[in-house]
Amino acid sequence: MADPAECTIKVMCRFRPLNSSEVTRGDRYIPKFQGEDTVVIGGKPYMFDRVFQSSTTQEQVYNACAQKIVKDVLEGYNGTIFAYGQTSSGKTHTMEGNLHDTDAMGIIPRIVQDIFNYIYSMDENLEFHIKVSYFEIYLDKIRDLLDGKWLLWRCEQCGCTERFVCSPDEVMDTLIELQSHKQKLSGKLYLVDLAGSEKVQESKLKRQEHQQVLCRPWENGISALAEGTAYIPYRDSKMTRILQDSLGGNCRTTIVICCSPSSFNEAETKSTLMFGQRAK
Ligand code: ADP
Ligand code: MG
Repeated sequence: MADPAECTIKVMCRFRPLNSSEVTRGDRYIPKFQGEDTVVIGGKPYMFDRVFQSSTTQEQVYNACAQKIVKDVLEGYNGTIFAYGQTSSGKTHTMEGNLHDTDAMGIIPRIVQDIFNYIYSMDENLEFHIKVSYFEIYLDKIRDLLDGKWLLWRCEQCGCTERFVCSPDEVMDTLIELQSHKQKLSGKLYLVDLAGSEKVQESKLKRQEHQQVLCRPWENGISALAEGTAYIPYRDSKMTRILQDSLGGNCRTTIVICCSPSSFNEAETKSTLMFGQRAK
């Protein structure tokens, strides 16, 4: 096992295809791809660990973004995979996809399958305890989606229900926590589908609040970590508090930057790409 204090952040970037209403409107397809790691928008290159063109399959995205993290979590690392991008850029498609279609499944159902396949293939003397929590964060509140209750933020932990699970079917659609007691290793895996990253002035008050609470502080947290700053402003948001294990050390974090390829969204796409560059 590698040095447990070691922490890595990978930033991937995915462009969805133009959709039919964009085509009907006459939007241009603006990204130009160079090699496997660079996308050029308006003459400016943006580099990432990987860039996925619109034709990239769900399986290819999974293999590059998530497969390795499953193994690392079972070896005691804390993993986080989250999608960032404006509304309709492909975050949910990337994280969930179509849960019931083998080709169109996104990262979460593939991870669930892989975790159980990996455990079934391991030494029978190892005992795994797998727990899952599933929650939604909105403003100051956390809603436990396993029991429907709204919880107020408590000091150190979210107080969400944790449920033991025994099969992929029991985990589908949820977030995952894994523990391997015999090796005294404990890894957590957070799979996050964030709210849209649009700039606050574009929408109504509700979204303004949402963005201020979730996205901006989250961005600050990630940027501070990426720059190696000692102070990480976790307290600024519920999201970063919940994810602090995965941001603070012993971590494997993958950010999938999701982008629209349309000329109509060029300004927002550039801002999303800039966020990804800062996180890198
Ligand atoms: P978001 O969660 O960022 O708001 P969605 O994931 O819901 O966006 O995507 C918006 C629409 O675009 C959905 O209908 C989705 O199926 C489609 N879509 C997104 N990414 C892709 C892709 N890579 N290939 C094909 N369709 C996609
Ligand atoms: Mg979505």
